[in-house]
Amino acid sequence: MSLESSSRDKRWGLQGMSALVTGGTKGLGCAIVEELAALGAIVHTCARNQDQLNERVREWKEKGFKVTGSVCDVSSNAEREKLMKEVSSLFDGKLNILVNNAGTNIYKATLDYTAEDFTSLMNTNLQSAFHLSQLAHPLLKASRAGKIVFMSSIASVVSINTLYALYSASKGAMNQLTRNLACEWAKDNIRVNAVAPWFIRTPLTTPSLDDENILKEVFNRTPMRRVGEPGEVSSVVAFLCLPAPGFLTGQVICIDGGMSVNGFSMG
Ligand code: NAP
Repeated sequence: MSLESSSRDKRWGLQGMSALVTGGTKGLGCAIVEELAALGAIVHTCARNQDQLNERVREWKEKGFKVTGSVCDVSSNAEREKLMKEVSSLFDGKLNILVNNAGTNIYKATLDYTAEDFTSLMNTNLQSAFHLSQLAHPLLKASRAGKIVFMSSIASVVSINTLYALYSASKGAMNQLTRNLACEWAKDNIRVNAVAPWFIRTPLTTPSLDDENILKEVFNRTPMRRVGEPGEVSSVVAFLCLPAPGFLTGQVICIDGGMSVNGFSMG
């Protein structure tokens, strides 16, 4: 192999790099685990359902991917601390990549939300990502080339009708966290970015997308006239984790078939 192609492989690969992806057993997280592992990373993931986690880890092993997993509810402070201890011992106190993916929604009109809904959703979507980033900081710094990717949403940059106010607020805060951490931790060689997808078909969104009226409205709003695939998000996450875009930090990248830049349609 020529010197030139081996240096290109290093810039466009994740060989030997360590990664933690939260919520990796389904949907976007599952696609991200596979994308990073296929590029050569050693990946640890977590979810709440032990059986599903065991099943996924078995499948990944069969595919030749280096992936381990542990049960963790990221909304629990104590479980986040336990998870990061496991990651630290697994990867010798170093971590190259943290993908804060796990998240959910509680679908209600604003006036119907309770204080408990607020605490629960903010904790699962935002506080978990904030605290895991804090806990991961020494490990990311020790790797000398750390990357954090936050899983935001298009709902963080435009209003998605009703049922999304709290979810949007949690993701909007995540976008600003992305910018702050990018600036604060640049000195530690940690790049911090976020991706903001529009509708991607996953177990989370299937009930909405199975509603013909919603699907029709989504298509009407989206210049590409379709929803996205998990692999179209995981590829962007992987790009952000590669060494190649080494000057890219503090950005929120919309993955939305043009939805967020779509204005009035003439026909
Ligand atoms: P999904 O299909 O419901 O998958 C969520 C994954 O996270 C599962 O592996 C789930 O496993 C895990 N998880 C959920 N809550 C958790 C918790 N408290 N602790 C640990 N793991 C947890 O969801 P998705 O559509 O892939 O969404 C993933 C992320 O992308 C979310 O942050 C979501 O807001 C964001 N997003 C999705 C879309 C979309 O269209 N799909 C668009 C924009 C943003 P367990 O249930 O076993 O815990």
